[in-house]
Amino acid sequence: MTKWPKTMRRGLLLLTVMASILFPNIIIATTHDHSIGIPGVHGGVVATTEAAAARVGANILRQGGNAIDAAAAVAFALNVVEPQSSGIGGGGFMMMYLAKTKETLVLDSRETAPALATVDMFLDTQSEAFPYAIRSTSGIAVGVPGMIRGIAMALDRWGTFSLAAVLAPAIQMASDGVRISQRLANDIQEGMKDGRLGNERTHSSYDVARNVFAPQGIPPQPGDLLVQLDLANTFRLLAKEGPEAFYSGKIAEAIVATQHHARKSTHQADQKKLQGRMTINDLANYQPVIRQPVEAMYRGYRIQSSPPPSSGGLTVLHILKLLERFPLGDHSQGFGFGSTRTLNVMIEAMRLAFADRAVWMGDEDFVDVPAEGLLNTAYIESRSAFIHPDTRQELITAGNPLPFDSASESQSVHIQETLALPEEGLNTTHFTIIDQAGNIVTYTNTIESKWGTGLMVPGFGFLLNNELTDFNAVPTADTDPKHFNPGANDVAPGKRPRSSMAPTIVFHHNQPIAAYGSPGGSTIINSVVNITLNLIDHKMPIQEAIDAPRLSQTSANGDLALEKYFSLKIEKQLEELGHQHKNHSFQTIGAVQAIVIDETTGTQFGGADRRRGGSVMSLKHDRSSYNKLPAN
Ligand code: GLU
Repeated sequence: MTKWPKTMRRGLLLLTVMASILFPNIIIATTHDHSIGIPGVHGGVVATTEAAAARVGANILRQGGNAIDAAAAVAFALNVVEPQSSGIGGGGFMMMYLAKTKETLVLDSRETAPALATVDMFLDTQSEAFPYAIRSTSGIAVGVPGMIRGIAMALDRWGTFSLAAVLAPAIQMASDGVRISQRLANDIQEGMKDGRLGNERTHSSYDVARNVFAPQGIPPQPGDLLVQLDLANTFRLLAKEGPEAFYSGKIAEAIVATQHHARKSTHQADQKKLQGRMTINDLANYQPVIRQPVEAMYRGYRIQSSPPPSSGGLTVLHILKLLERFPLGDHSQGFGFGSTRTLNVMIEAMRLAFADRAVWMGDEDFVDVPAEGLLNTAYIESRSAFIHPDTRQELITAGNPLPFDSASESQSVHIQETLALPEEGLNTTHFTIIDQAGNIVTYTNTIESKWGTGLMVPGFGFLLNNELTDFNAVPTADTDPKHFNPGANDVAPGKRPRSSMAPTIVFHHNQPIAAYGSPGGSTIINSVVNITLNLIDHKMPIQEAIDAPRLSQTSANGDLALEKYFSLKIEKQLEELGHQHKNHSFQTIGAVQAIVIDETTGTQFGGADRRRGGSVMSLKHDRSSYNKLPAN
């Protein structure tokens, strides 16, 4: 198991002590070597990447807000303290479990392609895809942002606080300033170096963000104060005028003007192609969607996760079903945690599932996703048969789930060899909250890459996403049965790009017992799989499940990513099987924030990922008993 430096452990201890003095009724359980959770916690738990945001969520719960209110406030607070990862210029998937009706819903505030989008919009005049570095930082990559209308809808239907009330803590944080974390300081430095946050030599639209995050012109130090006055004013405007102020009027006009900017391309004729195509109408027409989760049983546990347009839930479930026939967790059969056999079958299942994901998954409002076929028992058996515990398959191709899918016309087609997958960022944020009534929100929220496009809306202080790079840059659709491809993730006007976000809830005997998710682009799926196996098969407590080293393979025949915490012996054995991995190219994979509920006592636990400074705050008492003297 991972061991953390002494100084870090001391720092966490000090933080815990200070916080418990400042906030006596909140138990701050920062990460330590065991599962986080204090017996008797029923008053709510907030697990986020940043302590300042967790505190905002815990305070909302303490004031009587429910998990939805707390989630809204945390999302705005994260826009302030973790602006490189998520914010009002982006979108996400908010999964909610409503304790009263025992319902799970997914609020999809994923960005959409503008009405003027075309299938070939990422191709240059030579019909080649623009280099990722250029297209991912140009206006053409900006999707119509969904976060504000998504949160407004959640508050309207299930919240108890107003938009103004949940914006209040973020307004204060943005105007008073927040301390810059080590990670934010590193990311600002990196953004200034690679040009995503402008370049001091050339004055450009990318300098707007640079002037906010590095006002002195040099990268700030951890602990420096970050003040975001424009963002505070935008939040004030939204608090006063409501969500519509974002989708019409001066903010909408400024968004449209900002996404006309583009990186310099080598080709004069290409420059115009890199400009965004969003109009005021696209913003006016944006709508979040409430969706049913996808679900499947895994070893007696019901697992619900996010549906298309995310590929996250379906791919997580697909991998789990492919693995179900192996006795994971059984040391005597060589399937203990981290054994070569266990890791090999995990990798093989990931390769098979990602091959199918690449061909079959996209926005279901535009294409038929054969979800039933992909999870059909006979189809799973036929695909899982390719997995052998002690060998690696040379080449993996996508299967054909259509004959197993009652909604699809049974097609006997030959699947086109999987083309290159869209490149993507590995950023985003995930947080999970439970309140004292047992409502749960597990929410992945993003502006796609670190700093999104790097384009900040001048005068309004928020960054624009580059979510449209999650579409296939080169169209794939092919109707010829000899090399069929449904083009599930090709660009279309109004369509949502395929996501990997996978907020997930695990149920036992119809009670939710765990909820979690992760950032990390397509590695999100594998982080969620790793955690699920750790909890269910390896029977780890939540913090151990999060701390344990992860692996990830996000394509059928590409490289494996192995966290550096695996032993050299394991690395070598996997190499001998033929698994290529870039030596520690991934320092870490994902950043999981989770809650767990003890089935018998109802005690709530939290877990957060120290890979990204995670923070858990737990409320011990329910509000009715807190501050009351015990009866004589
Ligand atoms: N755009 C990615 C997705 O929707 C998320 C990016 C990330 O996690 O860094 O799956």
